[in-house]
Amino acid sequence: MISDVARLIRLARPARTRLIGAILLAAGATGAAVALLAVSGWLIARASFEPPVLHLMVAVVAVRFFGISRGVLRYAERLVGHDAAFTALATVRQRLYAQLERLAPIGRLWRRGDLLDRLVADVDAVPNVLTRAVVPAVSGVLVMAAAVIAATIILPSAGAVLATALVIGAILGPWTVARADQRESAQLRDVQARRADLIAETVLAASDPGLAEIGPGRLAAVADLDVAEARLVRRAARRAGVANAATMLSLTAASAVIWWLGSGATQAGTLAAENATLLVLLPLGLLEVSGAMQPAVAAAAQAAASARRIFGVLDTPAERARPGAEVPAEPWPIVLRDAALTWPGADEPSVRDVDLHLAPGRRIAIAGPSGSGKSTVLAGLMEYADVTGGDYLVAGAPHAEYAADTVRSIYAWCDQQAHLFDTTIAENVRLSRPGASDEQIAAALDAARLSDWIASLPHGAETMVGQFGVRVSGGQRQRIGLARALLADRPVLLADEPTASLDRETADRLMRDLLAASGDRALVVVTHDRRYLGDFDVVLDLEATQLLAR
Ligand code: ADP
Ligand code: MG
Repeated sequence: MISDVARLIRLARPARTRLIGAILLAAGATGAAVALLAVSGWLIARASFEPPVLHLMVAVVAVRFFGISRGVLRYAERLVGHDAAFTALATVRQRLYAQLERLAPIGRLWRRGDLLDRLVADVDAVPNVLTRAVVPAVSGVLVMAAAVIAATIILPSAGAVLATALVIGAILGPWTVARADQRESAQLRDVQARRADLIAETVLAASDPGLAEIGPGRLAAVADLDVAEARLVRRAARRAGVANAATMLSLTAASAVIWWLGSGATQAGTLAAENATLLVLLPLGLLEVSGAMQPAVAAAAQAAASARRIFGVLDTPAERARPGAEVPAEPWPIVLRDAALTWPGADEPSVRDVDLHLAPGRRIAIAGPSGSGKSTVLAGLMEYADVTGGDYLVAGAPHAEYAADTVRSIYAWCDQQAHLFDTTIAENVRLSRPGASDEQIAAALDAARLSDWIASLPHGAETMVGQFGVRVSGGQRQRIGLARALLADRPVLLADEPTASLDRETADRLMRDLLAASGDRALVVVTHDRRYLGDFDVVLDLEATQLLAR
């Protein structure tokens, strides 16, 4: 778990300084809270001896200082911490996007929409690991260490007692609970998944009169799973409660033991009474810090699961790496001649006799019924499907002479349904070119005809799109995808049924704007909607081609 989180943090390197800043600010804030209690105790005990008021001035000022700085530092920590978290999020997102593009935009991964959605959710969980786990845990450990050192300086035996109580209450306790949680979370997920399947099956069966009898038995099975889930959830809650109590108990006990040690030392004349008060209050002041350790560890465990899925993708080697020359900046002409395209692992080509000639400004439609191989042609251009017959030429040379990655980098991609991350419009566009300036993003948004809509939003391009883009319409989503593809600024723009999920009118407008926005790029659009074919320079009709091929 720790190694996954550590790797996630390393990945978020651009946020490092701010992360360290947030940790120090958090340590300052909690440290101030602890110091406030301890110094207040010292002050009250000291004042009871009625010394000249001047002798109390430093402590009085310190109390005021800690009281105010606690709030100020906490506020600053929140600002810096969230800033760090969102920088980290953007970095991880960009890395993942680049990797997904390398792996297979229309290959295995992207065909599984649910997988991708989960991955998007995993990435969006990245900020939590920083703000909920790393910052509180690391700053907590710093404050606890400082408290132990301070106690040891004043009275070594008290330092030892405090250290023992903290190890038990704030480290061993949370750790044990997290281990148990982790063991049981797999069971919990399993129960939930089984219930979801069962419910889906039962609902489907309900519409079939022949299956009506199975209903009651199924419902009983669902109820059993409900009970199993409740038991697991209750057990987790009980564990958290026990750990919480253990933290309280160990620190309160430490306070009592220190009181006993302190009275002894005070009577022996080796410890001033006000210092004894300070020591007794120290463990109580640390209750908040040590109580925060358990949720921090739980948050880290949760993030570790997300991190593992993210790294699973990042660590997948690009299967089709091939060394070779760089594709020239002007890759024209790009030609498929009598090409047969075969998916890896398939025995037969999915499409044959494909002729395609891509040139600057040329707009090509690929038409044909479902399953006729339209997407496969795009996959062939991007080398996700193999050219097993005929030729694929780039700048006049066989494509295999170029490194696979550089052939792929000729193309920008518009998906059937643009995948949006839970961030701003601008950040979603920036994914295709992380270094892009705000002006370049504005230009891309403008070319995708989004400027008017964006101008009408209170936060403009900084508007959040919501999880999976729930807050934008289908047409806006596709246009954000188009802006992303335009920003990538590649010589060829590929779009696979970009209007498939849109109503007729929205689809018409998007298609018109897509044709206009492609400019002097080559544009290849897959569409099964024959209405648009007249607007293109060239139409590759796979229905006809495949008939001829047969
Ligand atoms: P279209 O886009 O015209 O609907 P496709 O190009 O998706 O058609 O499909 C053509 C054929 O290629 C189908 O038989 C399909 O099963 C196969 N195919 C499509 N995508 C893949 C893939 N990623 N891996 C293996 N086979 C695929
Ligand atoms: Mg398709």
